Amino acid sequence: MTSKRFIPIAKPIIEEDEIQAVIRVLKSGMLAQGEEVKLFEQEFAKYIGVKHAVAVANGTAALDLALKAIGIKEGDEVITTPFTFIATANAILFQGAKPIFADIDPKTYNLDPNDVLEKITSKTKAIIVVHLYGQPADMKAFKEIAEDHKLYLVEDAAQAHGAEFMGKKVGSWGDIAIFSFYPTKNITTGEGGMITTDNDKLARKARLLRDHGQTSKYVHEILGWNFRMTNIAAALGRVQLRKLDKFNSIRKRNAEKLTQSLSCIKGIITPYVDPRVKHVWHQYVIRIEENYPLSRDQLMNYLKESGIGTAIHYPIPIHHQPLYRKLGYPQDICPNAIDASKKVLSLPIHPLVSSEDIEYIANKIKEPLDDQ
Ligand SMILES: *Cc1c(COP(=O)(O)O)cnc(C)c1O
Repeated sequence: MTSKRFIPIAKPIIEEDEIQAVIRVLKSGMLAQGEEVKLFEQEFAKYIGVKHAVAVANGTAALDLALKAIGIKEGDEVITTPFTFIATANAILFQGAKPIFADIDPKTYNLDPNDVLEKITSKTKAIIVVHLYGQPADMKAFKEIAEDHKLYLVEDAAQAHGAEFMGKKVGSWGDIAIFSFYPTKNITTGEGGMITTDNDKLARKARLLRDHGQTSKYVHEILGWNFRMTNIAAALGRVQLRKLDKFNSIRKRNAEKLTQSLSCIKGIITPYVDPRVKHVWHQYVIRIEENYPLSRDQLMNYLKESGIGTAIHYPIPIHHQPLYRKLGYPQDICPNAIDASKKVLSLPIHPLVSSEDIEYIANKIKEPLDDQ
């Protein structure tokens, strides 16, 4: 193994069948939202185990429409995690509502139900849980909290296609859920998103909102947007969906091999897996502690020079982002999220990473200890 080849942190798998599916749509001339989108929605709903799936242009649009569908508006508070991609919290701002940040569980990096309970006020309307890195949040606890306090439960499953909590797929636990098909996610459509729900009214509202509030041709019932998915993207997504379980099982194999090799290394904390979940390993995230010979950023550079791509998910908790500082968020809240942002490092485990690559990555992480 030479370090000439670079192992990227993420890379989509596009094979001949994806290419043929896209060509078929291009040749049909029916490029915008149509039959392919409808079939993708039906197949996705069946896979997740919900009544409705509504395809949209991207995951951010899906979050925006999910919150509009449940009626989040100015003056409302929505509780979520500051340790996620910015879109989760921004979707709350899009509604003129206020994101309220609760802290994460330092073991799973997911929202801590106990801290969410502390943050509920008379203005709270919803909780957005994120299944970070492909590991489901504690949906049993969150479902109870939502029921007890009459709150909407929204799942951001942008990183968790196919993940399960207590044998039930994420995207089917909350009132409404969203997925993303950005090229780094477990399956891709180039750009794309999906809303899933069992609620007929929420599904109808989401369908209207994504298409100019149109009920029949040029009849517009409510204010809507153009957040439609193309047939081209849907055709790609249908082929990818058929491969999702296979992709996820390779991610799991790679993750388990890495944990085996890394768990004995001083100063490296390997991912904790909640025994109640099926984890789909969107990211494999280690935590670098002080007793490891290199700092997190030094290790990142060292791995890059060795031909291994890594990333930090996420280097800045959302309440520390310039946008949120300006909104006046106190900087000392959510200490577990702040601590995690300084110590986490994601390693490549996507399906194009081979077992030999995994061995190489593990050996490179061990090397700085041998030099001591
Ligand atoms: C990717 C992602 C999104 C946004 O999806 P896009 O398709 O990129 O708009 C939202 N939330 C989380 C947690 C994500 O990882």
